[in-house]
Amino acid sequence: MSKEVKPVSVSLHPLGGGAAVTSEREAVCVFGTGDMGRSLGQRLLQTGYKVVYGSRRPLGCGPLPHGAQAMSYAAAAQLAGVVFVCIQREHYSFMETLSSQLDGKVLVDVSNNPEKNLYPEANAAYLQRLLPGCHVVKAFNTLSAWALQNGPSDACRQVYVCGNSAEAKRAVAEVATKMGLTVLDRGSLSAAQELEDSPLQLFPDWRLPLQIAVGLTAFFFFYELIRDVIYAYVVQGKDISFRIMVSLANKVCPIVSLIMLSLCYLPGIIAAFLQIYRGTKYRRFPDWLDRWMLCRKQLGLLALAFAFLHVLYTLLIPMRYYVRFKSWEYIITLIKENQTVKFDTTVGWRSDSYLSVGILGFGLYVLLGITSLPSVSNALSWREFSYVQSKLGYLTLFLCTLHTYLYGWDRFLRPSTYKWYTPPGYLLSMVVPSVVLALKLLLLLPCVDRTVTRIRRGWERTEPGEEKTFLL
Ligand code: NAP
Repeated sequence: MSKEVKPVSVSLHPLGGGAAVTSEREAVCVFGTGDMGRSLGQRLLQTGYKVVYGSRRPLGCGPLPHGAQAMSYAAAAQLAGVVFVCIQREHYSFMETLSSQLDGKVLVDVSNNPEKNLYPEANAAYLQRLLPGCHVVKAFNTLSAWALQNGPSDACRQVYVCGNSAEAKRAVAEVATKMGLTVLDRGSLSAAQELEDSPLQLFPDWRLPLQIAVGLTAFFFFYELIRDVIYAYVVQGKDISFRIMVSLANKVCPIVSLIMLSLCYLPGIIAAFLQIYRGTKYRRFPDWLDRWMLCRKQLGLLALAFAFLHVLYTLLIPMRYYVRFKSWEYIITLIKENQTVKFDTTVGWRSDSYLSVGILGFGLYVLLGITSLPSVSNALSWREFSYVQSKLGYLTLFLCTLHTYLYGWDRFLRPSTYKWYTPPGYLLSMVVPSVVLALKLLLLLPCVDRTVTRIRRGWERTEPGEEKTFLL
């Protein structure tokens, strides 16, 4: 790009029903009077720019933001140095005929595509190819027309900008800054594809944790359904299907929550053992482990969501008709048979410990969730953050696992627990956390801990006869 960016500042005269413009304000042009064009034009007007729309039907394009004017694309292009192209990519070709009016100007490509890899090149690159005499800048595509209308108080304040001309990017950045937006320069126009793909992303960091959550929920739901409801129907001839709604849900939620919490800590442990085995930290982890480590935060937040559901389901237990019915039935039977029951201190201890440990675990769980919020984690030093996420995290896992052990108590000794020879879900849910906690204990042994610490500080183990070679 050797051409200079054309500075154009023109005083506009109203066309048709437009308002009279009296003061000298900088003009910007918006191509297209659709949703994006209107929202952008409205914000530009509020910022203090004159806005002139290029349209196929300048007189029939409907109501425009107050103070804006509409004219033909060719006429509008001549009136401003910066032109916002708010047109779908498939209609770009007509702009080739405007090359003489647009030559040397800054074209802001705001377009997105309905899906990824629809075209071989980025929309902005295509526009640059159509109009080689212009300075195409990709910007504003990550903002929605709705967010633009909501003004600078809206959370969507960031504008990513890329383009080959530094001067053109500066011109666009100036407009965006005046609009109260924060500009982030993403480099040359080759970054346009990435910017165009970014609004199409659908929870990329959440995909794996969500798949794990759905997979575990489905598995344990059907597992418990077979063991509880279907077993009772087939073996005892009882219909207890109503228990699906609360009892079953309250069994599945803590199971999924505990397994997912332990899955947050398992990759760190695997990584530590891998480093001990390899004797170095300078070899890349396998891709699956990298991916797993990167989604720990999302795994933890989903685990917390399941823990919340477990708490809610537990709190409504006394309200359930089934529970009230059973307790009244029990009391009435005792009265009828003139019986009394003795208070069992062991059961009291067990039940209170189970609840207390659960509450403590949940409290720390919530604390972990809160510290993972960007606004909170940004306020913590790295040491504080790793202390909370690692030390308190393992303590949370320990308390939640202990809560499950106390829930189970000696039930695993009763043969009736193993319906159709299957272990209860809560026993299965303790496998991964118990393994994680046992391996963590192993890593805390002074000799193992020393080795891991040395490796993480850069020490490397050399095999006998092996010499280190350095490329100088
Ligand atoms: P839209 O409502 O369909 O408007 C597109 C405009 O393009 C039309 O109003 C029309 O204006 C103009 N146009 C020029 N030649 C055309 C032709 N041959 N056929 C149809 N229209 C033609 O679309 P939009 O939602 O404003 O989006 C415009 C661009 O902004 C798209 O590239 C989109 O990806 C991007 N974008 C939109 C949003 C959003 O929230 N809507 C957010 C970010 C990016 P005239 O009738 O005045 O000529």
